[in-house]
Amino acid sequence: HPPPPPETAPVEKDNQAGKQKERASSLCKTPPSLIRSKNNGAEFHRGMLLGEGGFARCFEVEDENGDVYAAKTVAKASLTSTKTRNKLLGEIKVHQSMDHPNIVKFIECFEDNQNVYILLEMCSNKTLMDMHRRRKRFTEPEARYFMIQILGAVKYMHSRRVIHRDLKLGNIFLDENMHVKIGDFGLAALLLSDSERKKTICGTPNYIAPEVLFGKQDGHSLEVDIWSVGIILYAMLCGKPPFQSKEVNMIYKKIKAHDYHFPEGVVLSAEAIDLIQALLSKDPADRPSLDMIVEHPFFHGETPSHLPVTCLEGIPHWK
Ligand code: ADP
Repeated sequence: HPPPPPETAPVEKDNQAGKQKERASSLCKTPPSLIRSKNNGAEFHRGMLLGEGGFARCFEVEDENGDVYAAKTVAKASLTSTKTRNKLLGEIKVHQSMDHPNIVKFIECFEDNQNVYILLEMCSNKTLMDMHRRRKRFTEPEARYFMIQILGAVKYMHSRRVIHRDLKLGNIFLDENMHVKIGDFGLAALLLSDSERKKTICGTPNYIAPEVLFGKQDGHSLEVDIWSVGIILYAMLCGKPPFQSKEVNMIYKKIKAHDYHFPEGVVLSAEAIDLIQALLSKDPADRPSLDMIVEHPFFHGETPSHLPVTCLEGIPHWK
């Protein structure tokens, strides 16, 4: 099989092929049109399929009050190994503990005989990846608008010792008001102390920080999310991630060699270039803190307080 598109392919490098097989078999069948919680008998009308990831399918559902949610649905039949079960439990535990305006709200979790359902705040304008596919590049004011909200959410997570570890355009959702909501805590890790280091090699190829790939003895920590934010900013402004390549191994090679350039023909402000370079510092210790990032001159430029939904398709006229 050819490698899957990098944006949609989280990997744990130890067992890539096995993981993909496990993911493919884990996708649930379409749930019944009336889903009934075994936990408390609550009923939900199932709506359309919103999307699917490697691990789950997501459906629109409506509760008895007419409130609409996104139900991330995982087939119980796929939760056979302790490792997979613990992974889902870990995702639920971390996501459940998050409460921030720029993080997808976790409503509740329940099951029926077939599936486990994670009820989430509905993000009807999809993800920044969908918008990026259509727009290719965002303007700097738009990038500032998105970045400020992303940084607020990451600051909140990090203050609670949570590393997201899979920040990417496809995990940044947009609600009906075009507010940013970070989602998918499937690879998140909770640090038990400020000094704890993580060793698992995971992430999505284009967004993985070099210290994760080098698999250094001393592991990685919160700074991997700062790196991913740098990749996101580069992709928003330049049209594609900096280490993009057809071959996943080539992406890794380029990240390790710190081999990236700013594309010719794309006009970027000096401030944008300076911030991206700082975020993409090879040494995690050289990356700016979240407080330093928001103080960066890049953010002195015009920043819209809201964006119209028309910007999903084309450059907005907000003046
Ligand atoms: P996985 O963990 O399997 O990758 P995701 O959490 O990425 O699953 O969800 C898969 C897809 O479901 C997303 O790409 C998106 O299209 C859709 N989706 C997920 N969460 C929401 C949400 N809160 N609102 C709307 N759509 C969502």
